[in-house]
Amino acid sequence: MDLFRYKGGRLFAEDVDVERIAAQVGTPAYLYSQGTFIDHLGKMQEAYRELDTTICFSVKACGNIHILKLMARHGSGFDIVSGGELYRVQQAGADLSKVVYAGVGKTDEEIVSALQAGIGCFNIESEQELENLSRLAQQHARSSDAKINAALRVNPDIEYQTHAYLTTGKKDTKFGVDIERAVAVFEKYGKSWSVRLSTIHVHLGTGGKTIDPYVEAVKKILPLIDRLRQKGHAIEALDLGGGYGADYETETVPSAEEYAAGIVPLLKGKNLRLILEPGKSICANAAILLTRVLYTKMGASKRFVIVDAGMNDLIRPSLYGAFHFIWPTQTEPQFVPTVRSQDLRVEGSETVDIVGPICEGADFLAKDRSIPPVQRGDLMAVFTAGAYGFTMASNYNARPRAPEILVDGSQFEIIRRRETYEDLVAPER
Ligand SMILES: *Cc1c(COP(=O)(O)O)cnc(C)c1O
Repeated sequence: MDLFRYKGGRLFAEDVDVERIAAQVGTPAYLYSQGTFIDHLGKMQEAYRELDTTICFSVKACGNIHILKLMARHGSGFDIVSGGELYRVQQAGADLSKVVYAGVGKTDEEIVSALQAGIGCFNIESEQELENLSRLAQQHARSSDAKINAALRVNPDIEYQTHAYLTTGKKDTKFGVDIERAVAVFEKYGKSWSVRLSTIHVHLGTGGKTIDPYVEAVKKILPLIDRLRQKGHAIEALDLGGGYGADYETETVPSAEEYAAGIVPLLKGKNLRLILEPGKSICANAAILLTRVLYTKMGASKRFVIVDAGMNDLIRPSLYGAFHFIWPTQTEPQFVPTVRSQDLRVEGSETVDIVGPICEGADFLAKDRSIPPVQRGDLMAVFTAGAYGFTMASNYNARPRAPEILVDGSQFEIIRRRETYEDLVAPER
């Protein structure tokens, strides 16, 4: 679900004609829909209400402070993966007890800031990291009575159908420890006095399209929790990570309700708090990237549409071969898309490569894509751009990063201005 819809052949973000925003802020620009964020978060909260659930929105998917504030206001905690993301959630005024911190390479400096901030849980990925956390906790914990909570990230060795770069729950990825090892880690450190190992964390990957891996993971983890409890370890929570699907194509992934229907019954009555770390399922559909056609040209055998957004603005197509539906924001009635799909072929459309201005062969947003005819100056929308869009944007080719705009009903607001050339060189001496 999202609130980007065509009305009379013109694309609206909630109640605002996107052309009006482009005219005011220029292109490329990220356009977020506040209502979409709230709707997705609310549906997830509702789906898991039978369990004691904390939703920790994944900051790396979409980290603008204004959006984090919005999420916090609606009851979300946060999943962070760096000191920089900790700083962001602090700036947003988040409830730090609802912050979980994952990542295989936390530095001492980052760990100390998180200890001093009093975050909810450290999601530990190796024994060395746990030893290091324990050492730092003894030196830097805020008060001696507040034990530091930690989760052990367990790698359940589950197949997850996605791009090879996006699977994190297989045995040979760098993430977490395997189930056998997990028992040994608890035996060795489970009763350490400075760190309370009280949670099992799994994060399977991202980009999957079925609930099966989650059900399988819970079924593998519950016996582990039973074993640990029998050995006297007080396991209080299960953190199931993120990776729930987003509608890059119309209705191709399970809804929050469908995931919950598979997961909740397995966890009922188990006396476990549930932590979820959704990123893209909350924010992907909450934004579009607006871009204008600079030129069109005919190559030897292909037609190219050259737009003013490039791989520095949205790297997912180049990096992961990711699909983003792209369409002109104003079209004749017969071209208004009925679904967002890779196979959508409308009578009278052309097959083109949609490419950016960057001097790099990998700079494309779409290849062999069928779209209505467009010409120089036309505005286009790259849909489902809210996750790993702006957060992965760079200044490659010395391109200032695009602004971020938040739409709420008939209002819109610039929540991050367009970068300037001065911004590009500001840190250089
Ligand atoms: C990236 C990440 C997430 C969010 O993944 P999505 O696919 O965006 O839901 C959650 N947890 C951890 C540990 C992550 O690294």
